[in-house]
Amino acid sequence: MYLAVVNALLLTRGRLLDPSQRLEAVADVLIVEGKVAALGPEAAAKAPRGVKRLDVAGKVVCPGFIDLHVHLRDPGQAAKETIATGTAAAARGGFATVVCMPNTVPPIDTPSTVALIHERAAAEGRVNVLVAGAITKGLGGEELAPIGSLHKAGVVAVTDDGHCVQNHELMRRALEYATMFDLLVMDHCQDYSLVTDGVMHEGYYGTMLGLRGWPAEGEELMVARNILLAESTGARVHCQHVSAAGSVRLLRQARERGLPVSGEACPHHFTLTDAALAGSEEFWRQDGAGLLASAGSAAKPPNWPAYDTNFKINPPLRSAADREVILAAVADGTLEVVASDHAPHCNYEKEVEFDYAPFGITGLETAVALALMQLHHSRRMSLLDLVARFTTGPAKLLRLASKGSLATGMDGDVTVLDPEAGWVFERGQTASKSLNSPFYGWPLKGRAVVTVVAGRIAWQDASLAR
Ligand SMILES: [Zn+2]
Repeated sequence: MYLAVVNALLLTRGRLLDPSQRLEAVADVLIVEGKVAALGPEAAAKAPRGVKRLDVAGKVVCPGFIDLHVHLRDPGQAAKETIATGTAAAARGGFATVVCMPNTVPPIDTPSTVALIHERAAAEGRVNVLVAGAITKGLGGEELAPIGSLHKAGVVAVTDDGHCVQNHELMRRALEYATMFDLLVMDHCQDYSLVTDGVMHEGYYGTMLGLRGWPAEGEELMVARNILLAESTGARVHCQHVSAAGSVRLLRQARERGLPVSGEACPHHFTLTDAALAGSEEFWRQDGAGLLASAGSAAKPPNWPAYDTNFKINPPLRSAADREVILAAVADGTLEVVASDHAPHCNYEKEVEFDYAPFGITGLETAVALALMQLHHSRRMSLLDLVARFTTGPAKLLRLASKGSLATGMDGDVTVLDPEAGWVFERGQTASKSLNSPFYGWPLKGRAVVTVVAGRIAWQDASLAR
């Protein structure tokens, strides 16, 4: 008799951690035809013949992680990254879903570009790719993009990321427009008149190194602008890669008043500081002291020179005091999302004088480890709450009704973690096409070991492949 091949996966004996159901228990998970079919004792009983089994005893089984801030550089910048390589890096890093930013070539400001990305993602994507469309045409900040048509084409949010809409009247119209579709508007908060050509945090180290400052108020002003406009329009506004203590203060007050504003934190902002720009010696002596404690006392801290362009990021690495406030904000939920801001660049672009190098670093493969170290192993958060920042947090903002949860009937996306695994991020290991990470050689603790997308294993660590 002919047996139809079913797409079925049974994850056995893992410790299930699902913030959407406040669930923490050792339980099996069954996924059939891309959807969660059963949890617990009935999972094995319901498994169809020919089910693929994966023993994940001792590991932590979570809803598939979502990274709502990723630059896939596709179309148009295939030398930096493609949908194939970027989603391979996402799978390795434990992300089952990524949201790609619209600053591609051409920018994602028309329905046809959205369709092109959906097509490519279906053909070569290793994980789910959701698309963020532009707020303004060509990310030029002068004329609104066709937000209604972009929404119809399937974008999950709009943003001019990489750029920031400077004209407040235009931003207000974008927010009014977005409310018609309950679409999330995300903003890279940067006031151009204050920041001008700043390249690093304005402070002690910036002065010492003689680099032009990117002051915290350059971010805080736009966060305040977004809060005021969210209040007047009712639109949902999300502040991307929040880096400054003052931005957190504004967001916390606004959220206490019930305004529909949110923010995300990036691992580099809650791990590194501007001292890193002065070289590794200065960093480990000062702000980095104790940072690798969770990775073990034998862990050898890596070295890098001053003015290393792999620490050049926008918004910039800020002070130790800012870092502390960002960590506290993720822990108390003021910042309800952790996102990588994975921003690949070619070696030849980064291997120039600091002033001339592009902003941005890769981050998909180190985000989970750094979050575990800085937020969980440091005892700031429970693992369940940290998992929420990667699952229910982004799913809720993006209105993803079938993601961020392992309840029966939800999408069969799973991230399996080994929170205790010690490892070192090596240059040769990355699946990204670009090498611009500041974290090579870092002793890390905790990582994803399996990434499942719609019931299929998108990536698994060699230790489980036996
Ligand atoms: Zn940005």
